[in-house]
Amino acid sequence: NRQTETREFQTEIRQLLDIVINSLYTDKEIFLRELISNAADASGKLRYLQLTGEQIAGPDLNLEIGIEVNDQAHTLTITDNGVGMTKDELIENLGTIAHSGSKQFIQHLLQNKQPDKNSEEGSDLNLIGQFGVGFYAAFMVADKVVLKTRSYQPDEPSWSWSSDGSGTYTLEETEEKQRGTSITLELKESAFEFGKAEKIKKIIKQYSSFVPYPILVDGEKVNTVEALWMKNKKEINPEEYAEFYKFLANAYDEPAYTLHFSSDAPLALHALLFVPGENFERYGISRMERGLNLFCKKVLIQEKSENIAPEWMRFVRGVIDSEELPLNISRETLQDSALIAKLNKVVTGRFLRFLEEQAQEDPETYKEFWGKFGMFIKEGAATDFTHQDGLVKLLRFESNLQEPGELISLADYVGKMKDDQKGIYYVSGPNRQTVEGSPYLEAFKGKEIEVLYCYEPIDDYIFDRLNEFEGKPVIAAEQDHSDLPSVDEGSETAGPDRLSEEEAAALSEWLKEALGNKVTEVRVSKRLSDSPAILLSSYSTHSMQRMMQMMNKEFAAPAP
Ligand code: ADP
Ligand code: MG
Repeated sequence: NRQTETREFQTEIRQLLDIVINSLYTDKEIFLRELISNAADASGKLRYLQLTGEQIAGPDLNLEIGIEVNDQAHTLTITDNGVGMTKDELIENLGTIAHSGSKQFIQHLLQNKQPDKNSEEGSDLNLIGQFGVGFYAAFMVADKVVLKTRSYQPDEPSWSWSSDGSGTYTLEETEEKQRGTSITLELKESAFEFGKAEKIKKIIKQYSSFVPYPILVDGEKVNTVEALWMKNKKEINPEEYAEFYKFLANAYDEPAYTLHFSSDAPLALHALLFVPGENFERYGISRMERGLNLFCKKVLIQEKSENIAPEWMRFVRGVIDSEELPLNISRETLQDSALIAKLNKVVTGRFLRFLEEQAQEDPETYKEFWGKFGMFIKEGAATDFTHQDGLVKLLRFESNLQEPGELISLADYVGKMKDDQKGIYYVSGPNRQTVEGSPYLEAFKGKEIEVLYCYEPIDDYIFDRLNEFEGKPVIAAEQDHSDLPSVDEGSETAGPDRLSEEEAAALSEWLKEALGNKVTEVRVSKRLSDSPAILLSSYSTHSMQRMMQMMNKEFAAPAP
């Protein structure tokens, strides 16, 4: 006489289910990719526990993923021998959403309820797996989902979880099953095709050929299990890389860059890194999760590792495998292990060099990359002091001497500098038009001296921290700096009817009195041609000044 318990889904999940069930989204087959990816995750977690000597139920079970279809009953069952779930885990994992990213994703879906099937990016529902709610894709094709699970923990009972997706789910203790999880979908009439083995095999070949565990459809193995990153580069074609990327990142776009390398010194590692084709953080849906997985001899040690690369590299997806990692390394020790720090350094350094090479070899593709992912490079240049040199080389700017939309690097800027030019000049403003109307540019006019345009506050911040590049000082046009050019004496732009020295001195005196302690100094300038006066800052730029003043105010403010 077993207790049945019915519980409500959290609001966000109810909203998500509503969208999933009612959407006209056509690529419904992605549900299978999501369920297989969960089965593979659960198997990977079990393999890790096995290797670390944890006590587990059913120690002899093979780690494989089984799929059974029944075209008469219109059901599909997917079974794994992974870690399974306890009752508490079921409630937590399949009834609530912890990630703020998932919640934002659902908000985004709600706001764009009618998916745009014509857009080349496809519907946002395709992103369901990337935002940590892939399981619910099952309700695209099923009227009812029944999940049976038994945790790897030896004394835990087996549980059954079921739902029709309408707002509640039911939990029930069930007869003892073997370790792991099996999920049965009762297919909707519109999705009967997924009850056919041929269809399922085809989908697996398309989306899941890189799952590192055997997938058996009605007992027949359909995937080849291999760790692509361990193979020789020469034996891998671009399609295989792209497929692997899609599997790894749960993505459907094509990778923009692929970097596959091995190293022996300073430590042995194999790495396969991808820059995605799209940057969803750019659209403000949510902050990207880390995307590098740490392996030791093909065994997953840590998913979405936070220690293996600096935070600004969170847009990179990939695998890092080092046989030098102790297998039983605990997640805590990962955090402050010297070995991980070394790995981090090698991987980041190599990635930066790779981007620099790409920028040289194929500037057009790099420009596209910069447009989509430049924000991460800037974030790195502003925050990651260790890799600052490599990052700064990757920055690109518009300038007064470039056509709108054309970009220049700091290295190219320095290469083109005039012999007597003192430094690298930049001017800030929200856009090209504002910047070009700025009085701070007047002294550069007609001189063919290049001035970089900075449209974002983070640019000012980077330059303020940078100080110099290849030995050249970086100087803001807004700055009170003696190395800034002045308007040529006697030239057209210097103006025919300028004040005499005495007149200018008298005007300065008067201004100083009138402005009082609002200014520290009033000086006659040779930097202006059309404007009567400008404000100069002792900070590099006005936006830096505002930033510093804001911070000072915060520190100075009395506690409320
Ligand atoms: P994600 O996989 O990104 O975490 P999902 O919605 O796909 O998001 O799954 C939610 C959670 O449910 C997983 O993190 C996992 O804890 C649990 N889960 C789903 N499927 C399984 C399974 N087959 N075995 C064990 N746990 C599972
Ligand atoms: Mg998942």
